[in-house]
Amino acid sequence: MGKNYRAELTGVFGKPVDENPTGVMEEAAYRARGLNFRYLNIKVEPEDLGTAMAAVRAFGMKGINLTIPHKVRVLEYLDEISEAAKIIGAVNTVVNRDGKLWGENTDGKGFITSLENEGVFLNGKQIVILGAGGAARAIGVECALAGASRITIVNRSRERGETLAKLIGEKTPAQAQYVPWEGTYQVEPGTDILINATSIGLYPDVDGKPDVDYGTVTADMVVSDVVFNPPETPFLREAAGRGAHTVNGLGMLANQGALNFTLWTGEEAPVEVMEETLRKEFNL
Ligand code: NDP
Repeated sequence: MGKNYRAELTGVFGKPVDENPTGVMEEAAYRARGLNFRYLNIKVEPEDLGTAMAAVRAFGMKGINLTIPHKVRVLEYLDEISEAAKIIGAVNTVVNRDGKLWGENTDGKGFITSLENEGVFLNGKQIVILGAGGAARAIGVECALAGASRITIVNRSRERGETLAKLIGEKTPAQAQYVPWEGTYQVEPGTDILINATSIGLYPDVDGKPDVDYGTVTADMVVSDVVFNPPETPFLREAAGRGAHTVNGLGMLANQGALNFTLWTGEEAPVEVMEETLRKEFNL
């Protein structure tokens, strides 16, 4: 039998990508499943994205992740995209299906899986999302599609906040509203899940904390942070101090990675291996 010295290729296009830990997690998962796959961090300038996507086809890559600044622009180079990615307006994962490039957004789905793994389900829930950027868009749309009844977007810039609330209200079955972030935000009574989807608290802003009246966070709330570096943020510490059930950003990262793994390899992902690899990367 002839040996196969050719690895299947996956990776991420972005700028910056040097500090992106996704590849370590994906390659650990490939090894755990005995797959001859590689994951490469590839720095791609904004003006080179078209050439880079042509290379995905030319190299017969199995798929590619997109990160800043390519998640929206990549849409013009794809043959098909998922319904959710269409609503979100951004793609973070591309799958090469026999030369046809299909785009999906696994950020929000990874977030939902990380909550479900903690026994938290979205159906009928009232959700408050701090932020209206890329992560907030993916999470807001997916939570709405997963059955959340009401979604409140709290954002500093009015335009982005209003746009996201309008998008959710028009394109999904959930109710949505925008609340301006003026001064200290008081969490609405009746909120089931409070999510920080801003970059406040992200390294090197490790002491940063969203301007929230933490006295309005109650023990029956689930409080989640998308920031994963560091995983234990001042936001989560404040919420835990009020007795809330906290969920950090590593679960979202591992689970979006697990979804990508399955889309590219067709196999079930070793999620525990992926989470453990991330914990080691963050010295936890
Ligand atoms: P964007 O730049 O698209 O959005 C940033 C958001 O944060 C905006 O809503 C912005 O508000 C808000 N914001 C930033 N600084 C402040 C501040 N000082 N006060 C109030 N609001 C602020 O970023 P992304 O959505 O792509 O990323 C957000 C975070 O999500 C990052 O930390 C990223 O690492 C994390 N992330 C985590 C993932 C995971 O798997 N765990 C996956 C993807 C992202 P405004 O509109 O007013 O500027």
